[in-house]
Amino acid sequence: MAITKRTFDVVVVGAGGSGMRAALHLSQSGLKVAVLSKVFPTRSHTVAAQGGIAASLGNVTEDNWHWHMYDTVKGSDYLGDQDAIEYMCRAAPEVVYELEHFGMPFDRLDNGKIYQRPFGGHMQDYGKNPVQRACAAADRTGHALLHTLYQQNVKANTHFFIEWMALDLIRDQDGDVLGVVAMEIETSEVMVLHARATLFATGGAGRIFSASTNAYINTGDGLGMAARAGIPLEDMEFFQFHPTGVYGAGVLISEGVRGEGGYLVNSKGERFMPNYAPTAKDLASRDVVSRAIATEIREGRGCGPHGDHILLKVDHIGDEVIRQRLPGIRDISIKFAHVDPAKAPIPVVPTAHYMMGGIPTNYHGQVVVPQETAPEDVVQGFYAVGECACVSVHGANRLGCNSLLDLLVFGRAAARQIVDDLERNPHPKRLPADCADYSLARLARLENQKDGESVAEVGDAMRRSMQKHCGVFRFPDLLAEGVQQIGQIAERAGNTVICDKSRVFNTARVEALELDNLIEVAQATMTAAAAREESRGAHARDDFPERDDKNWLKHSLYFSEGQRLDYKPVRLKPLSVESFPLKPRVY
Ligand SMILES: Cc1cc2nc3c(=O)[nH]c(=O)nc-3n(C[C@H](O)[C@H](O)[C@H](O)COP(=O)(O)OP(=O)(O)OC[C@H]3O[C@@H](n4cnc5c(N)ncnc54)[C@H](O)[C@@H]3O)c2cc1C
Repeated sequence: MAITKRTFDVVVVGAGGSGMRAALHLSQSGLKVAVLSKVFPTRSHTVAAQGGIAASLGNVTEDNWHWHMYDTVKGSDYLGDQDAIEYMCRAAPEVVYELEHFGMPFDRLDNGKIYQRPFGGHMQDYGKNPVQRACAAADRTGHALLHTLYQQNVKANTHFFIEWMALDLIRDQDGDVLGVVAMEIETSEVMVLHARATLFATGGAGRIFSASTNAYINTGDGLGMAARAGIPLEDMEFFQFHPTGVYGAGVLISEGVRGEGGYLVNSKGERFMPNYAPTAKDLASRDVVSRAIATEIREGRGCGPHGDHILLKVDHIGDEVIRQRLPGIRDISIKFAHVDPAKAPIPVVPTAHYMMGGIPTNYHGQVVVPQETAPEDVVQGFYAVGECACVSVHGANRLGCNSLLDLLVFGRAAARQIVDDLERNPHPKRLPADCADYSLARLARLENQKDGESVAEVGDAMRRSMQKHCGVFRFPDLLAEGVQQIGQIAERAGNTVICDKSRVFNTARVEALELDNLIEVAQATMTAAAAREESRGAHARDDFPERDDKNWLKHSLYFSEGQRLDYKPVRLKPLSVESFPLKPRVY
């Protein structure tokens, strides 16, 4: 079969906030840029971000980047790399002002400055009092951000391939990355995109769990493609559970609700967070609040006939504030929980939300893998940003509003690095003749498979297994069983059959291809979680309840081949300031 080949300077896979921020700088620099997306760009998951972007503008309360940096290091439970965290927190005000100048419709204070609200783990003066650091556009910050960046990209002539799915990474015999093989979803046409730089911005993988705040397209494709191409995945055991997903539906209720004064109550009507976090209370870090809720439920103080959720009380802040500051939350609450938050509390439960791990990069967005000869080495031509990357600024637990910030800071940093690298390497390397064979074999397997299990069945088994064996609290026997189970489910995923090949939109084929990626992520998460014998950030082991800096202050690296784990040190030295010493983490 003849396959179309197209050549660009840069191929960006993903049109969420990170991919679009990078693409904008690349196009503005005069490079020929292709951006691929499975969905129309403004439907990427970034559109769902509600609460805000963290930056120490100090518009409402005094603030500075050093306090922001301290909160991020502490929030990461000291697993974050402090050079990257310093880089991000220092750049935050600048990228927010840049966005303002691109036309982002932020909420305003009476004096005209950008509105900022309190958020979980955002504190003044090294953890003393809550600070207002989250820059917000009502509770639709991601929507405003993504539309702003899309419009700027249209203006800059970025070339979008809409409803195209990248299938696999192209690497040559030197290990250099030369582009991707992709498929148009509607027609199944396969194309090779050849580029001097390939940037992954494919977002998260919340869909490995049954209860998730993530969009259905968040299937970890970038991680699957990287893992199959021999790139390790970093810190995959750290998956954030957001304390407040709508009970039964999974849809997110932003922490911004607690930032605006909402708080959590148990079945006795008690406000319980002060018992777990005396200073920050309901605005403690997400892992802390999720564990508190799980504990209330486990100890019999959950709400409802099954005692399996708790309530988020907002009515006291008044209908007017709710309509002005939280209009989207009001809609979600009415549509998905059937309650008007001005009149009754919202039933909520911890829900899988954010992947701290990902493709290992440095703070220039370059993908780095450990080599035998050097501590780590850059994979030529390959970059990753956004939720699919592990820089690592979020360590073992991400603070709210630091992800939108990460997209902007590292989207721009990676693009700058690419511009420099391409100036040094003006000539593309030759594509290997067999560069599409692997993807074509995957597609042929789906076409030729006569019988087997449905993709939905195997996907459900994976999601149920992850939910049961790798949740908010993790137990040794469940983890060991989970590793076995996910291994068996991975084998079943290799024998799925597409039930209905005639569907116009070809969704069955896409779901089968996505399952391959989900399974890679699920296996990495379960394997790394079973191996880490301590509790740190979002990874809470029942059998090892304490953080163990002596043995476990290190990043995990999961290799798909042989499901092998390796480890690398945390970068504790910041760029210009003193390192924050390790301390117990209390809020
Ligand atoms: C409900 C919700 C609310 C949130 N609220 C906040 C918040 O208030 N503040 C905050 O800081 N963070 C928030 N987050 C987290 C943050 O929004 C995400 O981490 C971030 O938006 C991810 O951006 P991204 O650019 O990495 O990827 P995404 O926005 O997820 O985009 C991924 C892109 O990759 C494309 N893609 C994926 N696979 C392929 C493939 N195989 N081929 C082609 N294209 C592909 C998709 O089509 C899409 O365009 C929230 C997350 C959720 C789920």
